Amino acid sequence: MNAPTDRLAPPSSARALQALDSAHFLHPFTDHQALAAKGARVITHAEGIWIWDADGHRILDGMSGLWCVNAGYGRRELADAAHRQMLTLPFYNTFFQTTTEPPVRLAARLSELAPPVDGRRFTHVFFTSSGSEANDTNVRLVRRYWDLMGQPQRKVIISRWNAYHGSTVAAASLGGMRAMHEQGDLPIPGIEHIQQPYYWDLRESGETPEAFGVRAARWLEEKILEIGPEKVAAFIAEPVQGAGGVIIPPATYWPEIQRIVDRYGILLISDEVICAFGRLGHWFAYEKFGIKPDLVTFAKAVTSGYVPLGGVLVNERVAQVLCAGGEFTHGYTYSGHPVACAVALANLELMEREALPQRVREDTAPYLAQRFAALADHPLVGVAETCGMVAGLILVRDKATLGRFPEEWAVGMTCRAHCFDTGVVMRAVGDRMIIAPPLIMTRADIDTMIDLIWRALDATL
Ligand code: PLP
Repeated sequence: MNAPTDRLAPPSSARALQALDSAHFLHPFTDHQALAAKGARVITHAEGIWIWDADGHRILDGMSGLWCVNAGYGRRELADAAHRQMLTLPFYNTFFQTTTEPPVRLAARLSELAPPVDGRRFTHVFFTSSGSEANDTNVRLVRRYWDLMGQPQRKVIISRWNAYHGSTVAAASLGGMRAMHEQGDLPIPGIEHIQQPYYWDLRESGETPEAFGVRAARWLEEKILEIGPEKVAAFIAEPVQGAGGVIIPPATYWPEIQRIVDRYGILLISDEVICAFGRLGHWFAYEKFGIKPDLVTFAKAVTSGYVPLGGVLVNERVAQVLCAGGEFTHGYTYSGHPVACAVALANLELMEREALPQRVREDTAPYLAQRFAALADHPLVGVAETCGMVAGLILVRDKATLGRFPEEWAVGMTCRAHCFDTGVVMRAVGDRMIIAPPLIMTRADIDTMIDLIWRALDATL
């Protein structure tokens, strides 16, 4: 008879693993019938910017896992940090007037890294294990703030259609993914949506991106006036919408949004789960767009995805009120998990030593912008645009008129499959093909990635 440990031993082959996967594993955002028909692609190991599948294919990871692995794969010092912390103190809670060293040091470090806005610092950090939990925290936190400010009627949070803020009930409600709302009887009350600033879908004939950016921002003002400004608690948005398809707002959008939130005195939440930690060439994306958030959501690349960690950076304007207001009845067992925080500290140190945000800003992102723009010469590509180290292109049926495919999802999925076969991970969001590669990429790596994408586009033709 097998010993219990034998029964947990890895299956001998990828096929056996696929069968087990199909029998037992409920995957996130997955059609399980389609998955069972093909079998999941088994990823076995990774190094630098490359992943390998069980059939031995080497694939350039153009998505950094899932917008996470900014420092690249195989970084020994992150594993060492986890190992050391697990042996020293694998876990202790931070409830009930106790604390541990890693989250304290990490909160202080993040507070140092985040530039002040209008002279006010991000003094405090609330830790979670994911971006979704962090945005749930934001819902509780802004409502608590307005209660303490003597304005309990300020409950409504405004968000945008096609935004992604996570998958828990409140985070999915904040998000603007209709397919998620339909399945979950969402959004929960007190959440309203406005249109996203997607120029290529929503522009009027002859409208410039600049004019569109201002018009799109004013949808926020219209919504505030419709609800009643005295009832609005906050506006939440991703600086660049990631999961929605890398929707890069025109330069005029964020300044106008800032004017509007200032005018009506509502809190601004910058959801930087994707955009922070060097992705746009800065530690935090609000620096790039010159916006002044009160709360900043982070997750993913804070540990380069090596272990789960998320949280909310809280500006002192809000933190002072919260801290003076008695107990905030909210928290997770793993708020400030010592191992996750130790890995985050090691990751930030590594990113700082290698000057990754600066390297992106001054070298890699401008080079990617130039190389990615050239993809617009491909007969299938209507638009190719980048912002820092995220990029998206639109697959078109008619290049001259930017005529779109009637079956947007089908063309995207076909192209995505060709990308895998060619050896590069791209994600399809409708007819937008998007990337967010590791920030350690060199110019030569970018050349390799662009060649692979071009070949995948050829195969899609
Ligand atoms: N916010 C944004 C902007 C995201 O892109 C994501 C995930 O992709 C989340 C929140 C949710 O984060 P998580 O999947 O860690 O819960």
